[in-house]
Amino acid sequence: MLDQAVKGASPVVAARRDSPALRQCCDSYVCPVCSQVVELTDYRQVVWHQQPGHRPMDADA
Ligand SMILES: [Zn+2]
Repeated sequence: MLDQAVKGASPVVAARRDSPALRQCCDSYVCPVCSQVVELTDYRQVVWHQQPGHRPMDADA
């Protein structure tokens, strides 16, 4: 089960080198560091995901 979850996350990491479309589309993108969806309309999320080596932000925080 956990092994499947890891494999499922791999394409997201592998796509980070050529994902300009994701970064420019609409008002959200998938963070290449933590694979979390970042809402560009939320300045706090944007700043958080610009930090090197950060962890996924708590959606409920
Ligand atoms: Zn992130």
